[in-house]
Amino acid sequence: MDTIKNLVRKNIWNLKPYSCARDEFKGEASTFLDANESAYNAPYNRYPDPLNLKLKDKIIATAGYKGIDAGNIFLGVGSDECIDILYRVFCNPGVDNAVALAPTYGMYGVCADVNDVEYRSVPLLPETYAMDADAVIAACDERTKIVWICSPNNPTGNSFDFSDIEKIYNAVNAIIVVDEANIHYSSNGSVAERVNDMPRLVVMQTMSKAWGSAAVRLGIAYACHTIIDIFNKVKYPYNINILTSDYANARLDAIGEIKEQVALTLRLREEMAQELSFIPAVTKVYPSDANFLLAKVVDANDIYNYLCHKGIVVRNRNNVMLCGNCLRITIGTPDENAILISAIKDYTVK
Ligand SMILES: *Cc1c(COP(=O)(O)O)cnc(C)c1O
Repeated sequence: MDTIKNLVRKNIWNLKPYSCARDEFKGEASTFLDANESAYNAPYNRYPDPLNLKLKDKIIATAGYKGIDAGNIFLGVGSDECIDILYRVFCNPGVDNAVALAPTYGMYGVCADVNDVEYRSVPLLPETYAMDADAVIAACDERTKIVWICSPNNPTGNSFDFSDIEKIYNAVNAIIVVDEANIHYSSNGSVAERVNDMPRLVVMQTMSKAWGSAAVRLGIAYACHTIIDIFNKVKYPYNINILTSDYANARLDAIGEIKEQVALTLRLREEMAQELSFIPAVTKVYPSDANFLLAKVVDANDIYNYLCHKGIVVRNRNNVMLCGNCLRITIGTPDENAILISAIKDYTVK
């Protein structure tokens, strides 16, 4: 408790949360005249459960994580909200800092700017994109409140060893966030089960990737009860609407179908890596633990524009640190992948 208390902003620790009508009533009832809702248009007339306990229980049952309960889960409007709430809870604007590896997911830096938090980047090692845990530790000081570790990392596609994450956790007194948006495609397992014995660990997942529900906007953060209790009092009371939670509830039943899609995506990823490696315009395909490939090409800007003219959009990462001349290519359907491969094959190296 004190480990967390010392990291939380004072105003947030002392915050008295908004108490909604239904928080104050405990028990069974059938006549609800407490919240000034319309009496018509059920079920949408009613405010949803602020804690979304039904959905959290379903998430736990589906994931099968041992020792995790609803009190270990925060639900946000995408990972975006999880990232933002981490800054708002732990970082005093203009005072505290966050440390991240580079290159990595762009929202950590944008959200730091929005919250006026200094953002420190520690470069990955060139070509292998491995992390230098000692360099991460060296970049931290007593004002470091958050360390971002995206694993598998976007856009490099590689995962980091838990031993490195543990080393940073043990050396730095800050919140260590592991962003597992792409975990379903990884050969590494999730570290979500560790949040109770590592109270400064926060693990983020999302419905946006393997669950095929980016449009629905549902992000999941796992952490110890102390952190989740704070997130719950800071969030907008009804951040997750009933359309999202009903959809997510039903989507979780499709776990079998999701596993098949992930297995297919992994097969297609290896196939595409193989095919790309035979194309002269492609100079390197990096190993991937995610649903995309990072490929170094002879001229990323030119190939990017060439593909755009053919109606094919990939992500040009040429201007990203350590990713010169790199394109990030999402694994699509077999047809989409074939269109991409055939177009790059037709590209004439200048
Ligand atoms: C795709 C992705 C997300 C997803 O964010 P949402 O807001 O949940 O859609 C988060 N982090 C990483 C590293 C990603 O690649």
